Amino acid sequence: MNDSSSARAAQLAHLRRAELAKGDPVALPLTMASMFHLPGDPAGFAQYGRFSNPTWDAVEKMLSHLEDAPALGFPSGMAANAAVFFALLQSGDRILLPSDGYYTTRVLTERFLTRLGVTYDTRPTATFLDGGFEGYRLVFVETPANPSLDICDIAAVAKAAHAAGALVVADNTTMTPYGQRPLELGADIIVAADTKAPNGHSDVLFGHVASRDADIMAAISDWRKLAGGIPGPFEAWLVHRGLETLHVRFERMCNTAEAVASRLLDHKAVKAVRFPGLADDPTHNLARAQMERFGFLIGLTLGSQGQAERFIDGCALIQPATSFGGVHTSAERRARWGDAVEPGFVRLSIGCEPTEDLWAAIDAALAE
Ligand SMILES: *Cc1c(COP(=O)(O)O)cnc(C)c1O
Repeated sequence: MNDSSSARAAQLAHLRRAELAKGDPVALPLTMASMFHLPGDPAGFAQYGRFSNPTWDAVEKMLSHLEDAPALGFPSGMAANAAVFFALLQSGDRILLPSDGYYTTRVLTERFLTRLGVTYDTRPTATFLDGGFEGYRLVFVETPANPSLDICDIAAVAKAAHAAGALVVADNTTMTPYGQRPLELGADIIVAADTKAPNGHSDVLFGHVASRDADIMAAISDWRKLAGGIPGPFEAWLVHRGLETLHVRFERMCNTAEAVASRLLDHKAVKAVRFPGLADDPTHNLARAQMERFGFLIGLTLGSQGQAERFIDGCALIQPATSFGGVHTSAERRARWGDAVEPGFVRLSIGCEPTEDLWAAIDAALAE
């Protein structure tokens, strides 16, 4: 990872130090509180658990350090997406979504935004720039898209979308702030599911929104406070702990993914491999220019649904599960959810197992 990522990771481990008084615990205390001691004038003090919480403050400080932008925590990735849509859109707005991105974002739009007078279009990530952005209030990118792993040029989208007067939102879940920096590339807002690699231990749902635009963050903060879609303090505490090891986990996961993807490409049981780090992947040149790492998700296509299921269930070091980004390698056949992929397409989320042990287990399962 580049210098600024490692500098950010090094500082992250010491963020709390400046605030500690002698005798304070080094580890973050968990504050479970709905009420705060509040006699007299309440201005300037913690007032109520829907407005603020010291454990949120700590995790938001970390997220803000990682994003280099103010950040707000949410109880899930979708709560973060919903906050952006409901806080910033109004009747008459038209938005653009990726047709191959996270499915729930499109369902939320179709079910609940359209009846408030917001219209939308979708476009494949690989050709996201085609057609321009005239007439859109908000353009939502997810790159690499999930599960296709196609990518789009965030800087070019931001330039064209801004010229057309649109806001650019980037769902950066698959890459994390260590793997890709959409705000630096011109996006206005980041949304992310910290449920995935940032928490990393498959035991919490969490999300965040980050933006350098103060008006946007004020609207999103008001939305959270008024709608009540707030994170639980314990979840925030767990995400704080997860973020402390994100750099080391992400580096291992990305390194292993690079090794595994190129070996899968040469494997006779595998029909196709999608991974931005492979030299002949259609995304590779743009990925090299725009991403700090190539990520830890690999798309591989086996001969049939049966082969894919036997591979996933039969590999001793693969956890069959939906979702991704845990310390354990996991995989699933995406066609079971209706994604537009072949029946034998498997999304593999590389975990933190030692690389050679993981490869030996994958190789053995493919040989079956
Ligand atoms: C998982 C995911 C989300 C939603 O996150 P939740 O925490 O499940 O609500 C949004 N976008 C992407 C790309 C995701 O992978």
